[in-house]
Amino acid sequence: MAARTGKEYIDRLSASRPTVQIEGETVSSAIPDHPRFRNIVATYAALYDLQHDPELREVMTYESPATGEPVGTSFLVPRTVEDLRRRRVMMKTWADASFGMLGRTGDYLNSCLMALSEAQSWFAQADPEFGENARRYYEMVRDGDLLTTHTVITPQANRSVTSSQQLGGTLAARIVDERDDGVVLRGARMLATIGPIADELLVLPSTVLRSTPEDAPYSYAVAVACDTPGLRFLCRESMDYGRSHFDHPFGSRFEEMDAVVVFDDVLVPFERCFMLGHPELCNGFYSETSAVVHMTHQVVTRTTAKTEFMLGLVSAMAQAIGIEQFQHVQESIAEVIVALETLRAFTRAAECDAALNPFGVMTPKWEPLNAARNWYPRFSQRFPEIVRKFGASGLMALPTEADLQGELRADVDTYLQSATLTGAERVQLFRLAWDTCISAFAGRQNLYEYFFFGDPVRMSGALLSSYERGPYLERVRDFLQRDER
Ligand SMILES: Cc1cc2nc3c(=O)[nH]c(=O)nc-3n(C[C@H](O)[C@H](O)[C@H](O)COP(=O)(O)OP(=O)(O)OC[C@H]3O[C@@H](n4cnc5c(N)ncnc54)[C@H](O)[C@@H]3O)c2cc1C
Repeated sequence: MAARTGKEYIDRLSASRPTVQIEGETVSSAIPDHPRFRNIVATYAALYDLQHDPELREVMTYESPATGEPVGTSFLVPRTVEDLRRRRVMMKTWADASFGMLGRTGDYLNSCLMALSEAQSWFAQADPEFGENARRYYEMVRDGDLLTTHTVITPQANRSVTSSQQLGGTLAARIVDERDDGVVLRGARMLATIGPIADELLVLPSTVLRSTPEDAPYSYAVAVACDTPGLRFLCRESMDYGRSHFDHPFGSRFEEMDAVVVFDDVLVPFERCFMLGHPELCNGFYSETSAVVHMTHQVVTRTTAKTEFMLGLVSAMAQAIGIEQFQHVQESIAEVIVALETLRAFTRAAECDAALNPFGVMTPKWEPLNAARNWYPRFSQRFPEIVRKFGASGLMALPTEADLQGELRADVDTYLQSATLTGAERVQLFRLAWDTCISAFAGRQNLYEYFFFGDPVRMSGALLSSYERGPYLERVRDFLQRDER
């Protein structure tokens, strides 16, 4: 197999029958045919097609070391800084296709799998077989160009106790049986974005919830096919309401479903297990393998694309209604420019100061990327504030496409024109602003940016405990101990 086309992605998804429950229905049709998933599947298919665009093929693919076929560049194991740049250019191409609104394009977890596949000696601390499994799984995903998602969080019922104490230990997905052919999982996990449209689900340790020795049954890293018997995706309400691209420009294209995952005694064959037990190793799963660094490299690339879009959007709004001469408007646009340059600087610093990790993988410098992943979730919450401030009532004076095609057209042309745009053009731009910062789709985007990589509060704690502050403390202490005159 090689890098897939959109059709190949759709054909495989059509042939599978994951158990997907949404809005009171257990989906019985093929996922790509279902009205709640049709549009997002088409969007993902278009991303796969980019791999076959003659002008992009060099960027999007490289030769598989196993098959010689072209495979996605996000699987490339970087050995040089140039390889890192190559990976980033590919990731930016996908991110630009959705202005960074798609958080779970395959490159996010491909980057994780790539790093895991190289960390053989780290896995060997538990069992060399786990490292071999991780490598074989990575190769299967790479050469089959499979789309993976992941679930890392235990159900939220009670965060003041550990998994083993929640509901007598029966809530969070845990290993309930070890058989000759694999382990059996029972319980639930949160939250699998794109679960229903993915091929594979990675069930991994949390990035932020620390495991204790009692959590051994909850500590594991495995992979299952999304249509494995006993696996269920409990979806939230869809934010793709079946409206036109004009009316819901983002909701109709980029609605990545989120789902609680239930494991009703799911059998996971041993060859799909990358860690069983070992809570202390699970706590270092992403950091000690460098997986988190490569995932963050993808995340910062995506959020750069999103910030570029935001700069374009707020500039277009300001020009449309003639507010750019006001100083507070200029100040807010400048804020977005500074954010964009900050992201670019983080990326550049991380790539320039990259070094080989203990497994021979060229790895971006962690500190700038860690700073970015701590800063952006908070900064991104400024975007809706700025768009609301610029748009004001214009974000509600929004007739629909049907109105534009009906007898209201003359009113729209007259009363909704702007300093630089016709009525229809202004409505189109402001509907985009609405779907970026006001709509249900937009609300989910804000929540996503804040939380998807883990609770920012606990990420701050992790930053603090891992950052080398000693020299700076020493400087202050030295100063205080200087002889007074
Ligand atoms: C849109 C969206 C998509 C997501 N997609 C995925 C996905 O694809 N895969 C996946 O695995 N996960 C996904 N997540 C989950 C994400 O990883 C979690 O939201 C994040 O790790 C926070 O965990 P939580 O939601 O359980 O919040 P909780 O941990 O329940 O936190 C709730 C609140 O309590 C506070 N709190 C709780 N415990 C502590 C503590 N010990 N110390 C200090 N404060 C505490 C938090 O700061 C927060 O304010 C997604 C989340 C969102 C919102």
